[in-house]
Amino acid sequence: MSSLSELSAQQREDIRQACGFACVRCGVTIYRYLRLPDGNGATLLCPTCHGLVEEGRLTPMQVQGFHTNPVVRQRHFARDRLPFSPDLPALILGGSRLLKDTPIPLTLEGEPILIFAPPRRSNGATRISVRLGDADGEPVQVVEGNEWMPSDGSWHFLLRGDRYSMMAARGDGLAILRIVARNRIAVEHLRTTIRGRRLEVTPDWLEIDGKRHVGRIGSGMLVGLEC
Ligand SMILES: [Zn+2]
Repeated sequence: MSSLSELSAQQREDIRQACGFACVRCGVTIYRYLRLPDGNGATLLCPTCHGLVEEGRLTPMQVQGFHTNPVVRQRHFARDRLPFSPDLPALILGGSRLLKDTPIPLTLEGEPILIFAPPRRSNGATRISVRLGDADGEPVQVVEGNEWMPSDGSWHFLLRGDRYSMMAARGDGLAILRIVARNRIAVEHLRTTIRGRRLEVTPDWLEIDGKRHVGRIGSGMLVGLEC
């Protein structure tokens, strides 16, 4: 089974729809595309489950089984734990009160660090994009519209409770997003350096080049704060 980069936009949309807009095994809404063993079609697996396939701990037959019966379509699946909302989520970060209608809460050096968008379909997941600096301070697209981009192990992903954690394998870059409710996301911790500029964010404050600010991010704007 190989990962796919040559899928058309329409093929990707069909795959997302078939899988319920999430990892077919665990329901995480950050995923990679994976070709199915029968050769026709592909499925969605989160970076963790994708890793199990790469390590041989999930067989092609098992993946086919999850694809046939995606977890998000099962009755017991708790959608409220994950960002399945038809609306742009409200955001909690930087000591600002609940940010609404702010798709790009922060840019650093002109780079959009986080982008949120409502799903294209009402039963889809919040579209999340994450752009962080690598160990050399160059920006890297870690997540692009929910697709996990690093395929070389340079970033790690982990679901811990209600948190999506993304960490650089080298350097101290990280982003931890907490799914407070399906339409509410808190930036629990974000840390990155891009071209020598340093940004650190928690729900209560943000630091730009070591200087702390509270409540600087504007609500109801395309870009909440340019750093
Ligand atoms: Zn998974």
